[in-house]
Amino acid sequence: MQKDSKVNKSCCFQRHAVLTGIVCLLVFAAIVGGNFSAAQARSVDMPVVVVDPGHGGNDKGGQGPGGELEKQVCLELAKKLEAALDGRAQVIMTRTDDYGMSVDQRASLANRHQGDILISLHTGASNNSAANGHSIYYDLPPGGDQGPAVADHDSAIPRKWDRIQHGHVRASSLLAESLRVQINQIEMPGDADVMQAPMALLHGLDMPAVIYETGYITHPAMAKALENQSYLEALARVLAEGIMKYLRDSS
Ligand SMILES: [Zn+2]
Repeated sequence: MQKDSKVNKSCCFQRHAVLTGIVCLLVFAAIVGGNFSAAQARSVDMPVVVVDPGHGGNDKGGQGPGGELEKQVCLELAKKLEAALDGRAQVIMTRTDDYGMSVDQRASLANRHQGDILISLHTGASNNSAANGHSIYYDLPPGGDQGPAVADHDSAIPRKWDRIQHGHVRASSLLAESLRVQINQIEMPGDADVMQAPMALLHGLDMPAVIYETGYITHPAMAKALENQSYLEALARVLAEGIMKYLRDSS
């Protein structure tokens, strides 16, 4: 009995030691392999959609006639888009509150999370209060026959990643078109157009990516619409449909 008992204790100890060793090895492998980064935690069965609310912090973006701020509209719409995609995509937000981020920080975050697509949200703004219309931009990358990098309103500094988007231009144009079709299905002032232009944020993104400008915050009627939660929810729903349709068609 005594002997058996010792043997059993010994076996239990050995099992425990083996299990502990396996756990340590797994922890070590995870630390060495990726530091438990969010990118490593990416869900394999859902696409990763990066939502980028433009501006933030001291960078207010455009301002409406009633004091409406582009940075707030972008964040509101981004949160509604995140909700509209819930259960269908893993959403990564580049910012979740009112703070500033550089173009590089946004692109770096998106690339680190291995986004399947990125949509950056903005409003139009103009000194002409009559100006309005929705625009979806995809990138015209620098280089080749297309000339050097040209900055958008977010950055004037060409960066080291400035050629990454080259390989995604065609896919980005398809994403933009999918969004355009959906956006034009809701009632709003002005149709949505797809345009290609050099955009500093998009240059550095290693995924299909677009910038959506939701109409002009400087247009009085549009500014009111952009403060309307129901309107923003309807907009978020069609954006989500456009994104999901693109992802289905491209898979
Ligand atoms: Zn903007």
